[in-house]
Amino acid sequence: MKAGDSVDKKYFHSVVLQEDRCIGCTSCLKVCPTEAIRLRDGKARIIGEKCIDCGECIRICPNHAKNAITDDLSILQNFKYKIAIPSLVFYGQFAGNVGLELLR
Ligand code: SF4
Ligand code: SF4
Repeated sequence: MKAGDSVDKKYFHSVVLQEDRCIGCTSCLKVCPTEAIRLRDGKARIIGEKCIDCGECIRICPNHAKNAITDDLSILQNFKYKIAIPSLVFYGQFAGNVGLELLR
């Protein structure tokens, strides 16, 4: 990214619809917290401006029509700094006497 580039130019959504699997059942519309899904031509299309990539539609879809795009770990080589942000759930699995030094 060059100086002056807007961050949102680089932003894309990880959650996408696999149209051939969608049967238009509307289950995902009902659980989307930001009302980012609309049924058009019988398919549950995501409105990019509203989607927060929470993954609720992936979880609820009975036909696995919503998927998350993921990168291969090799993409980390493209960046000077590599930062990991583990989920807090990860740390919650261990007793209080287990410090970061034991988790490495
Ligand atoms: S829950 Fe799945 S099959 Fe149903 S409308 Fe949403 S994407 Fe389509
Ligand atoms: S990822 Fe979340 S916000 Fe985006 S369309 Fe699915 S349920 Fe809605």
